[in-house]
Amino acid sequence: AAQLSQPLGSPRQASLRMTATEAAETYEFQAEVARVMDIIVHSLYSNPDVFLRELVSNASDACDKKRFLSLSSASEGKENTLTEELAIRVIGDENDKTVTITDSGIGMSKSELINNLGQIAASGTAKFVEAIKEGAADVSLIGRFGVGFYSAFLVSDRVIVRTKSPNDAKAWRWESEQSKNYTIAEEPDPASFLPEGTTSGTSITLHIKAGMEQYLTDYRLRSLLETYSEFVSFPIYLWTTHT
Ligand code: ADP
Ligand code: MG
Repeated sequence: AAQLSQPLGSPRQASLRMTATEAAETYEFQAEVARVMDIIVHSLYSNPDVFLRELVSNASDACDKKRFLSLSSASEGKENTLTEELAIRVIGDENDKTVTITDSGIGMSKSELINNLGQIAASGTAKFVEAIKEGAADVSLIGRFGVGFYSAFLVSDRVIVRTKSPNDAKAWRWESEQSKNYTIAEEPDPASFLPEGTTSGTSITLHIKAGMEQYLTDYRLRSLLETYSEFVSFPIYLWTTHT
């Protein structure tokens, strides 16, 4: 259930905090999610590379859904209104120490954010945990058990998801530091994270952990995309910033 976050610290700090994260609500991850995040980080730490494949594959799925919905509304006699480019953008910023994966896909409503990133099917978790225990802690499992998103925490200690769905008038910002909780706040300006001319989509910013700086470089990101995302059917644009 949603709870409004309690201000932390002294009243002075609390009021500063409230301005920074205006009306952010704190939610608790379902116990299974907290467990899966923990397992991923502790058993797949030797294979952090998978994070990009998983996030790009989610971005690609989101683009597929948007295309599918526009095609099916066209077949219902409505005009096919999809004039937006479906694409995936990967930006590595060595100055900010962030990697951002943006797609112009279907996005998520507030309730989808809560349902898709805050909870997972308990049965899937049980099977995933079993497979990992049996020593089959193969990185390919992560995608198969529908927990790929959490591989973001292999390389980052703070993840921000900004998203806009056609089914929700508002855009949202989801943020987690892989603890028990995550927050959701309204994102007042979808244009700040969506590519120009795009009406829906998702942008995921990873604050890269100390020791994982290799994933900020053009060389590393490019080779991961070439190795793992060869068959993605949408254009992937990569750019990197450094001083
Ligand atoms: P899976 O992709 O197997 O369902 P994930 O853990 O990778 O499992 O993702 C969980 C869910 O979160 C997805 O099914 C989807 O509903 C949602 N999701 C993740 N990334 C995106 C995105 N970029 N755009 C829209 N929805 C997303
Ligand atoms: Mg996935």
